[in-house]
Amino acid sequence: CGIVAFVSSQPVQDRTVHALEKLEYRGYDSYGFAFATGKGFALVRGVGPLSEDSGGLLAGGLPEVTTAIGHTRWATHGGVTVPNAHPHQSYDGKFAVVHNGVIDNFLELKRDLIGGGVTFASETDTEVIAHLLARHYAQNGGDLDAALFATLAALSGEFGLAITCTERPGLLVAARRMSPIAVGMADGAGYICSDPVAVAGQQGWIAYLEEDEIAFVEKGSVRVGSFLDAGFPERKVEQLPLT
Ligand code: GLU
Repeated sequence: CGIVAFVSSQPVQDRTVHALEKLEYRGYDSYGFAFATGKGFALVRGVGPLSEDSGGLLAGGLPEVTTAIGHTRWATHGGVTVPNAHPHQSYDGKFAVVHNGVIDNFLELKRDLIGGGVTFASETDTEVIAHLLARHYAQNGGDLDAALFATLAALSGEFGLAITCTERPGLLVAARRMSPIAVGMADGAGYICSDPVAVAGQQGWIAYLEEDEIAFVEKGSVRVGSFLDAGFPERKVEQLPLT
């Protein structure tokens, strides 16, 4: 339903919570964050309105991190529960994924992963994406680009995605098919969002991904291209000013 992600040289945990709150008007049933701590992910998830919990989360001291992703969920597969709230993690603990949309072939992918010994922690269609990333990452000797392209090629359906990997701190990956995703720079951070409202009023720019595009977002750079071509022909995006 709603996606935000930030990467910076400065702490981003609080601004990630504030940005996700701005997407509340779109409606959702649960929320969650993955904070990349350097030793894995701190997952903070809850059912119900984020605005009822955010004061406590911010006051309680979230882990100080420079890479974070957040999601508000509108459940399509699996009940409204904390284990089904995004982000979802891969079985090896290296990937965290948030997803808007529906993966049409998730049952077939899930059966295959379970056959390979993977245990699922949720009932969502989304969780297959995290495990597929881990599997392709291992099969390709830790080549993240290869893992991303192979995983995206295996998915059918609709997706807006934000992904982070513990072994590539400082990198966020976005991808989209039939679900809006934008990337850019805002107040000194690289970001991903599903709705420009998340970064409205900040200093910087926004660029919208086109169909079947992937983006590599770092604190000072954004690269965008098609994920249908593993040669990654980079597209020069139009950088629209934030308003
Ligand atoms: N299909 C996913 C789920 O049910 C994502 C739903 C959404 O777009 O929020 O968890």
